[in-house]
This record gives sequence, C-alpha cells and structure tokens, in this order.
Amino acid sequence: MNHQPFEDWLLNDKLIDPKQKLELDAHLRMCADCSALAETGVALRSVKKISPAAGFTTRFQARLALQKAADRRRRRGHIWPPSLPRPLPGSLH
Ligand SMILES: [Zn+2]
Repeated sequence: MNHQPFEDWLLNDKLIDPKQKLELDAHLRMCADCSALAETGVALRSVKKISPAAGFTTRFQARLALQKAADRRRRRGHIWPPSLPRPLPGSLH
C-alpha cells in the first residue's frame, strides 16, 4: 500500500485542503499503520498544546497560594500594616 502523501500530511502537521482531508480520512479507514500514526500525532499535538497551559496554571495557582498566605499573615497581624508607623525597637518596653 502506498502511504504517501498521507504519512507526510500526518507527520508534518501541514494545513491540508478539504479534498486532501477526505483522501486522508479514506486512507486512514483502510490503513491501520497510518491511523495509528494519526492517533500518535493527535496525542503529541495535544500534549504540546496542553503543557504550557498546565505550566501556566500551576505557576498561577502557586502565586495565588503565596498571595493568600501573605494575606492571612497580614490579617493575623504578623506583618505590621504599612500605613501605621512601625514602633522603634525598644520603644514598646
Ligand atoms: Zn497508510
């Protein structure tokens, strides 16, 4: 069976026109090799798409957690409110 140009279309991730897409779909239906390749290609592309977003979400959530922790400390009074003058060391005695 001739797997070209279908393998190229699957591997190179080029834009193919609707007619080529139909040819590719027809070939995938009768070719286990190329449909396996297509599945692998889809999986690879979705990993590439998801990874940066997941990294961003993780970084965003980490920053959010840090901010929340800082807010909690401020509310508990562990951090002196910046609007109030900080007492000089020793002046509380
Ligand atoms: Zn094939």
